[in-house]
Amino acid sequence: MLIGIPREASGGETRVALLPDAVARLLKLPGIQIQVEKGLGENVHAPDSAYEKAGAKLVDRSKVLGASDLILRIRKPEPAEIGKIRKGAIHLSFLDPYRDPVTAPKLAAAGVSAISLEMIPRTTRAQRMDVLSSQANLAGYVAVLLASRELIRVFPMMMTPAGTLPPARVLIIGAGVAGLQAIATARRLGARVEAFDTRPVVKEQVMSLGAKFVEIDLGETGQTSGGYAKALTEEQLAKQRAGLSAVIAACDVVITTAQVFGRPAPRIVTKEMVAGMKAGSVVVDLAVDSGGNVEGSVPGKTVEVGGVRLVGTLNLPGLVAAHASLMLSGNFTAFVEEFWDKDAKAFKWNLEDDILKGCVITHGGEVIHEGVKKALAESPAAKSAPKPAAKKKK
Ligand code: NAD
Repeated sequence: MLIGIPREASGGETRVALLPDAVARLLKLPGIQIQVEKGLGENVHAPDSAYEKAGAKLVDRSKVLGASDLILRIRKPEPAEIGKIRKGAIHLSFLDPYRDPVTAPKLAAAGVSAISLEMIPRTTRAQRMDVLSSQANLAGYVAVLLASRELIRVFPMMMTPAGTLPPARVLIIGAGVAGLQAIATARRLGARVEAFDTRPVVKEQVMSLGAKFVEIDLGETGQTSGGYAKALTEEQLAKQRAGLSAVIAACDVVITTAQVFGRPAPRIVTKEMVAGMKAGSVVVDLAVDSGGNVEGSVPGKTVEVGGVRLVGTLNLPGLVAAHASLMLSGNFTAFVEEFWDKDAKAFKWNLEDDILKGCVITHGGEVIHEGVKKALAESPAAKSAPKPAAKKKK
């Protein structure tokens, strides 16, 4: 099998799917060959010569797309590029299949088997392939550094002959993978940290990192069997906002990471709550790309509202691209190793396997993922599409 890695062409992506060390590791599998697009590792200072030394062949983009049996990349393909991918190839990347009604059907029509990175189940067996965790962890770290850059105060308490500086007060909303790393990072910088999450199980984790858990009685919340938060009712969200208002008003930094899988991010911080913050405070919205936790935050921009800076920087792991690429390389390598049949020297297409069942979106010319099929049928584009004319009876 020929694995191909194209350069990331869209969205200013700085990360790289596979670093040279990972190339060398995958080439130890019997029957694997690797080709990479020239210049693949430029952003992270991994030169072409390092890929060649690891055993990869350097080729141009059309060869990577048109001749590979398995394409590994971070971003989904642009629609115009899908026709250039070889029919029958496997394509592994982020796909956003619930929010993007175009790419998956096009990949299916092109005969490409598309696997969605974000849909790999969050099970113990799949932990090594879990790109959401590996990247969220870095995003949480970077969010705190961005906040510290925007804040015109310091994080730690400083007692000096010239005066005493109090520690920054930081609130983290959503204590999943990104939130827990944000708590740990802000604590390391010396801030006084509080956190809130709707899943009661995280209270202990928050406290073990030296942060205070903000108690708000929302009634029944809980989590799904996969460990994800359940969506709150409008009434619960209103209670949450009321409970967080006073804490937010007293904070110097708020970092929001709240997500509900497969849905737009919950709107937690309203413009009234932002108006209630002290001038000079900073809010970092990690959910800005999926609808935003913060009213007024803008994807890809830092805006100032009433003296409060709202940071909407996208692709936070991309700001630490070398380490983000190292982790992604580990995730991609683990995926290929898991599904490579060393005896048959072929990809193990067992669609009953719980991991593949969760993340294979298109196969055999069709969208086969049940959840995505349903979402596509319900998408506005599908509803407004002209219905096929009924066949006339002869
Ligand atoms: P996520 O990105 O989906 O959400 C981030 C956080 O936001 C979650 O902690 C969620 O509870 C929280 N949230 C949702 N709505 C909220 C609201 N209204 N207010 C405050 N917080 C809200 O989640 P994630 O970080 O990717 O993962 C969440 C959990 O999934 C992990 O903590 C873990 O329990 C589980 N997980 C398990 C595995 C595994 O078993 N291999 C791997 C990864 C994650």
